Amino acid sequence: MADKINYADRLDKLPPYLFASIDRLKDEAVNAGKDVINLGVGDPDLPTQSHIIERLNETSRDPANHQYPSYTGMTDFRKSMAAYYKRTRNIELDPVCEVLTLIGSKEGVGHIPLAFVNPGDTVLIPDPGYPVYGAGTILAGGEPFIMPLMKNNGFIPDLDAISRDTAAKARLMFINYPNNPTAATCDLDFFAKVVAFAKEYNIIVVHDAAYADVTFNGYSAASFLEIPGARDVGIELYSLSKTYNMTGWRIAAALGNAGIIDGLGKVKTNLDSGAFQPIQYAAMTALDSSQDCVEENNRIYSERRDILVEGLRSHGWDVEKPKASFYVWIAIPPGITSSDLTALLINEAAVVTTPGIGFGTYGEGYIRMTLTTSKERLAEAVDRIAKVQI
Ligand SMILES: *Cc1c(COP(=O)(O)O)cnc(C)c1O
Repeated sequence: MADKINYADRLDKLPPYLFASIDRLKDEAVNAGKDVINLGVGDPDLPTQSHIIERLNETSRDPANHQYPSYTGMTDFRKSMAAYYKRTRNIELDPVCEVLTLIGSKEGVGHIPLAFVNPGDTVLIPDPGYPVYGAGTILAGGEPFIMPLMKNNGFIPDLDAISRDTAAKARLMFINYPNNPTAATCDLDFFAKVVAFAKEYNIIVVHDAAYADVTFNGYSAASFLEIPGARDVGIELYSLSKTYNMTGWRIAAALGNAGIIDGLGKVKTNLDSGAFQPIQYAAMTALDSSQDCVEENNRIYSERRDILVEGLRSHGWDVEKPKASFYVWIAIPPGITSSDLTALLINEAAVVTTPGIGFGTYGEGYIRMTLTTSKERLAEAVDRIAKVQI
């Protein structure tokens, strides 16, 4: 047995985990018996609907579902996914070669660089952004190249700012709207620009649509696949996690370009053995049934959003009201870092938020709060935050 366990270089290359000190402060507050309000977690607090759970219960009793599932996912699940895209977005997909079941979209994000990125290849990733884009890139030996998301651009990457040289070296681009952590949305114009850019430089586009159906007040998020030609260059990742309160179930799909789906499938065939069939059946029930439960979730989030945003604004905070996602991205007062402010809010108000710097360099100057807590608790959080001297 070696004295010291050495990690492979690729693990040492992963960025440091920036939330460790926040986690420690939170644990200290909890252990001290404080009534902690956690606005840090991006995980729905509401339960999965019972009709979805019932389908899991029924199908889990069938021995045929106890065996290895198909690697590409059940044909019926892929058909449900395609029918859902047709019904909700008028996008036609071939369930056989343009849809692939994923064990959550994080799995797809993590695996896709293994299929398409050679050591040293550039991957374009948004900053601030979901940390897995960078981690997946690094684990595949790729080099993340940051696309800053800035307020003056509506938190949308400026493709014109990417040099021809960098674009020529890029193999893959990750984008994500509605966005985590900024809660920004984008329009079809941006997707059209991405398609043109990807065609010019031969870049594979992965649009992470985890919040595509977490939308408010009649807003509906565009799909990347609506752009003519999008299917020549990219895929969209659709997740049931956030829409149906199913984060723990681990079920999502990759949709779009058959060649990209095939490459991702090759990696998966060698590394995992697919999603438990009863979970795919339950997911079919979620997609095929009335979407009233989704509307109800979204109504709840929008009420919470109004309480949090209007409350913070009334105390002088600079906050936009998001049209989608369950995040609120808050510009912080000058003279304090996002980490210091987060620590202050835990220590003085027992309110946990997430420092923007944890999502990348360009997240500095912001903190993120989540709407996965009741209205009453959000109102209480606002009251407590208002009393903190910053
Ligand atoms: C939550 C989240 C995911 C992960 O979704 P799963 O399908 O549960 O793996 C992916 N991308 C973003 C941006 C997220 O916030």
